[in-house]
Amino acid sequence: MSSPLTAPLLQMPLRVERDIFLVRQRGREVAAAVGLERQDQVRLATALSEVGRDLLHAVGGADVTFVAVGTEAGRPALRVDLAPVAPLDAAGYRPQSPAVARLVDSLELTVDAGVTVIRMSRRIPAGAEALTAQRLAELRARLGESAPGSELDELALQNEQLVAALDEVRRQRDELAVLNEELQETNRGVVALYGQLSEELEETNRGVVALYAELDEKSAQLKAASESKSRFLANVSHELRAPVTAIIGLARLLADSASDPLTGEQARQVGLIRSSATDLLVLVNDLLDLAKAESGRIEPDWAEVDLRVVFGQLRGTLRALATKPGVALVVEEPPAPAAVRSDEALLTRVLRNLLHNGLKFTEQGEVRMRAEQVGDRWRLIVADTGAGIPPELHERIFEEFYQVPGVASGAGTGLGLPYARRLVNLLGGALTLTSEPGRGSTFTIDLPAGGV
Ligand code: ADP
Repeated sequence: MSSPLTAPLLQMPLRVERDIFLVRQRGREVAAAVGLERQDQVRLATALSEVGRDLLHAVGGADVTFVAVGTEAGRPALRVDLAPVAPLDAAGYRPQSPAVARLVDSLELTVDAGVTVIRMSRRIPAGAEALTAQRLAELRARLGESAPGSELDELALQNEQLVAALDEVRRQRDELAVLNEELQETNRGVVALYGQLSEELEETNRGVVALYAELDEKSAQLKAASESKSRFLANVSHELRAPVTAIIGLARLLADSASDPLTGEQARQVGLIRSSATDLLVLVNDLLDLAKAESGRIEPDWAEVDLRVVFGQLRGTLRALATKPGVALVVEEPPAPAAVRSDEALLTRVLRNLLHNGLKFTEQGEVRMRAEQVGDRWRLIVADTGAGIPPELHERIFEEFYQVPGVASGAGTGLGLPYARRLVNLLGGALTLTSEPGRGSTFTIDLPAGGV
């Protein structure tokens, strides 16, 4: 005896044409009873009547058994076995219409306890009422009672289902049409957007290209302007040097004791002319140097330079300038071997300039120069204990003619540092400053030991 869970829900014979209607009708009833959805009920019933018809024609009928399976495992399904009344031929069974197999979850020819059956099954959805032993007993009782309707009833129902299915198909077709329309609309939108974007991109690109062309042109103009400025400065300062030198010479002659004696006032004025002309000569010389350095007309004279020699010379020549009583000039001896590939004259000029500035802007303490080797580079450092330079001016003092406001710079021109930086760059190095107001300034020349 089967257990209350696995016992068939319904069994019925299929022997004549009319039974096909009955099997279909009852199949739908059982499907509804176990909780299959409406669509699935119709699917299963249809598959059943198709297979039933095939068997009736092939072997003269079948016994149909409905059973709920998998109720213990939690994934229940409705299974229908159709056991043919006579053996099927060797070719086995194939449904007449291949679409039938798609109506159910599985449709197969199988042998169960020595009996060949065609078995189909359809899963019962999770939301359906649980198929407990009690519920199954109830269903069995109900299905056993319910009397099958007439073929006409089934035909009418089949018709109704067909109409419903057709309606559903039409609805889906309409929905599809709407979706298609929307898709086309969206596509048109995307294409338009894409077109607009590419146009904008092209526009932007054209703009960028034009901008670059303009930029190139401007930088060429700037380069030309800067070159002509340097050329102009070089020419003017060169031309000015001779007359200014002449003025100084003449003033010296006038003041000379061998010339006619001058009145006190005249001597004072000649003195003024001479000192102004001397200042002017300094400016003209500085301008000429800078213009030359900027126009790239200075070619370093590369040679092995002994830093100890350079430091020694500067120690000697600048001692005369270190005249303030509270300020000491300290030139440390560079560590040996103090060799660097460079231009001795240019390097000396830069260092002299930095030392000169240090002495000029320091009232108390010291101005110290030292050298240190770091890897394959040399650092030449000029540090003072002067007033220092505010951080926001650290780059500005390297601009031409810039002088820190409110600081007396004697006969300064504001050209020394830009010139020094130019020369250091020419020598393959960099000139930098660290300084804090009130704590002095440190200028560092960083040079490659091997030159450029
Ligand atoms: P100049 O010394 O002829 O004025 P520079 O180009 O050498 O021109 O220097 C520009 C300015 O930078 C100076 O006028 C001064 O204000 C500032 N400066 C340069 N060196 C020092 C220093 N060691 N300490 C303080 N200020 C300095």
